Amino acid sequence: MGEEGALKAPSAGLVHGLGLSSGGNVEERLDRFRLPLNPCFVLPSLHADMPSPFDNLLPRYDAVVIGAGLGGMTAANNLAKFGRKVLLLEHHYQLGGLATFFKRAGGHVFDISLHGFPFGMIKSTRRYWTKEISDRIHALKDVRFINPDFDVRTTFDRTDFTRILVEQFRIPAETVEAFFAHLREMNYYDNDSRTTRELFEQFFPGRPDVQRLLLEPIAYANGSTLEDPAITFGIVFSNFMSKGVFIFQGGTDTMINLMTAEMKANGVDIRRNVLVEKVLIEKDASGRRRVVGVKLRGTRLGEEAEVACATVVSNANIKDTVLKMGGEDAFEAPFLEEARKVRVNTSSCQVYMGVREGESIPHIGDLVFTSEAKPFSSQELIDFHTTSRTYSVYYPDTRPHTKKPRYAVVTSINQKWEDWAHLSDADYQTHKARVIEESFCGLEKFIPDIRAKVDHAEAATPRTVNRYVRHVGGTSFGTKFEGLKVSMALPEQVGGFYHAGSVGIIMSGWLGTINYGVIVSAKADAYLRDPLSAPLGESQASAGL
Ligand SMILES: Cc1cc2nc3c(=O)[nH]c(=O)nc-3n(C[C@H](O)[C@H](O)[C@H](O)COP(=O)(O)OP(=O)(O)OC[C@H]3O[C@@H](n4cnc5c(N)ncnc54)[C@H](O)[C@@H]3O)c2cc1C
Repeated sequence: MGEEGALKAPSAGLVHGLGLSSGGNVEERLDRFRLPLNPCFVLPSLHADMPSPFDNLLPRYDAVVIGAGLGGMTAANNLAKFGRKVLLLEHHYQLGGLATFFKRAGGHVFDISLHGFPFGMIKSTRRYWTKEISDRIHALKDVRFINPDFDVRTTFDRTDFTRILVEQFRIPAETVEAFFAHLREMNYYDNDSRTTRELFEQFFPGRPDVQRLLLEPIAYANGSTLEDPAITFGIVFSNFMSKGVFIFQGGTDTMINLMTAEMKANGVDIRRNVLVEKVLIEKDASGRRRVVGVKLRGTRLGEEAEVACATVVSNANIKDTVLKMGGEDAFEAPFLEEARKVRVNTSSCQVYMGVREGESIPHIGDLVFTSEAKPFSSQELIDFHTTSRTYSVYYPDTRPHTKKPRYAVVTSINQKWEDWAHLSDADYQTHKARVIEESFCGLEKFIPDIRAKVDHAEAATPRTVNRYVRHVGGTSFGTKFEGLKVSMALPEQVGGFYHAGSVGIIMSGWLGTINYGVIVSAKADAYLRDPLSAPLGESQASAGL
């Protein structure tokens, strides 16, 4: 996720809306949607060689999905499988959102968020995507932790963690068993107000080393801290402990290609380089607010259009979805207040190091958690000058299909948006260079001649995340806990308006967002089936297409 190839700000906008957002009563405005059977929504492209992403748009869709992250793509694919006419809109030229990759000269391919996910991905991708995608998921065998408190190698599953906790950390086996049993019982609806710190104190009092072993990997997986609700740790940790850490063989590029092919086969209309600026909302005869369409802008030429739809599933950040795309007029005041109060999660820096073709590096582990912090603290982990970083090592079996064996290392560091957002250009470059240098220094402890083997290195920062996926605060893992409630309450405020994206820590990460996409698409489909919800007062769009 380097800085090159960033989107250019649209220049002069060509406006050819259907006037949905201005004047007239609702029925008149909705009628305007029905007029053209096959309308050209946009003025002809200014650049004949650059087709408009709006070419041949249908006049109306059952569902518009905003954003092609894993949550958005899963929702779009599922709705299409239900027989719905779906338009998937992505502001970037590439699909995948944070589950993406980029290429660099020298044959380098770098994955952004392919570091590890729980076993549940096998089932979710098999049921909601394809067997081919599911069959490529395989376990990582060698997870390492190296810090002043301990040096541990593990398969990161319950059996191995029990062994480590009992043999290395001298915790009674009954305590470990009780801890795991307790985690298994945790449930979002329990309204348990305990923090993760309190949970740890209950089972492992006065053992910061044990707390570090348990929390550090989860902090990297979802940004959770000792002060977050215990459930944000408990559910995600339990998911991993069921069978360990898994990864997609073939790389993110292969996975996104397979998902794209599947969506196309199911009839999803996919448009890239399209930014959704506004979700259009009107009151129906009963006074209930309903989704009626979306307002779009092409990100290359700045052309504009409006498209009618009965439901919208937003994969953008929940705060942006409510406060920017929905707009303050569309919601009740208490809901808006809750949305404003939602805290976004922390962001990340990454350093991408590509090993020169023909070179190799020794096996040092698949996922190596390193830190010099003593004691462990959630604050140190996100400090601007943190010493905590995770190395994801990509050996040739990550992409077995490539002609020549290739190696890469990606360093991930949790960071705060505010530390990076306001740096001057010069300071920004200085600190990017620092992060790269620190990353090499850390890696040299395992691979002393790494600098001689790497022929490409670059860094991404919270600003990069913000630029590529537009998330407020460059958040890597959506929102803190309270975001989930706002996300789930959205359709109660506006009929047909749904959100499926990283929220509340629980519904984040690859597995969480895919599962959330499934849940939300089922709700959106139920809305479409409900005759009382027929949003435009006529039969569903799919029926006439
Ligand atoms: C550095 C890093 C490492 C990570 N590592 C892991 C890991 O190892 N394992 C794991 O499970 N998870 C990991 N994650 C988290 C995981 O990648 C995300 O939780 C998940 O991919 C988020 O999916 P999502 O569906 O919420 O959407 P996102 O991936 O956030 O995508 C949202 C999409 O919406 C688009 N969009 C936003 N606004 C608009 C708009 N107005 N119009 C059109 N399009 C719009 C964006 O461009 C983007 O494509 C990592 C994240 C980061 C940043």
